[in-house]
Amino acid sequence: MDSLKDTIALIGNTPLVRLKGPSEAAGCDIFGKCEFANPGASVKDRAALYIVEDAEERGLLKPGGTIVEGTAGNTGIGLALVANAKGYRTIIVMPETQSREKMDTLRALGAELVLVPAAPYSSPCHFVHTSRRIAEETEGAVWANQFDNIANRRAHIHGTAEEIWAQMDGRIDGFVCAVGTGGTLAGVGLGLKEKDEGVTIALADPHGAALYNYYAHGELKAEGNSVAEGIGQGRITGNLEGAPIDTQFRISDEEGLEWVRRLLAEEGLCLGLSSGINVAGAVALGRQLGPGKRIVTILCDTGFRYLSSLYNADWLAAKGLPVFPWLEGDA
Ligand code: PMP
Repeated sequence: MDSLKDTIALIGNTPLVRLKGPSEAAGCDIFGKCEFANPGASVKDRAALYIVEDAEERGLLKPGGTIVEGTAGNTGIGLALVANAKGYRTIIVMPETQSREKMDTLRALGAELVLVPAAPYSSPCHFVHTSRRIAEETEGAVWANQFDNIANRRAHIHGTAEEIWAQMDGRIDGFVCAVGTGGTLAGVGLGLKEKDEGVTIALADPHGAALYNYYAHGELKAEGNSVAEGIGQGRITGNLEGAPIDTQFRISDEEGLEWVRRLLAEEGLCLGLSSGINVAGAVALGRQLGPGKRIVTILCDTGFRYLSSLYNADWLAAKGLPVFPWLEGDA
């Protein structure tokens, strides 16, 4: 294996792995794209790199400049790492309700944190709007704007989709994942459709998100709620515009969590809840498409980021969610 030219080159080119339990459950082959293998341990490193390089190419980000973003987690971590590697400063705006772990991680990486009270998107105090204002008021700063900046989805058209196509030897019947910004679903969807119009692109939507109803009935309407972090969208973001979505599934936290439990206990993969929801979506799509089909989904981030929540008996019990058997007795 050749050495890589720099640390930035560690982003992407993640492994694709066949998942035994999900494949058996669906009666076809289910593969997971191991995005937890990125340097920042999530799929968002890809978007962070494309957003930063796009701002460089457009002359918006100059040496020593500052990157500002409103994010609760993975995008901030990706941006902080890319910024360090390229000599930029990072300012991350997040709601003060976010977990201690995430704040500690961002601080540990050298990002400057600005905490704001939780507020609805319609409020000017919302963390996304606050981050835009800080970028406008800071000399030499750019606003990453991951939700509406389509450099995000280009990372998946040119990176993730190309890799999946090559790793599957061009034999893929379906792709499914959940939406935070929509960069992954829209980007991989557009990239794969360019290779083969016949690939089915599916949304796995958690409860509390509005997209299932939008793609099923044309109405943005949310029902229920979810503890999944990083996914669950209530609007059509810039990244989602024109996304080629053929079908959609609504996935409960319980279903997603059951796959998180099984993938850890039976296959030795420690993942976050969005990965479990994606795998549940892949099983649903596999059952719909039928035996012999080949489905790909995203394993978005590492479970090590959720030790005090998903992997904590007290936390699970307080949320009314089933406690993993090996954690019972901790509560
Ligand atoms: N899972 C996790 C854990 C995430 O942090 C994100 C990003 N918000 C996603 C899934 C969804 O990715 P995207 O923003 O590309 O829709």
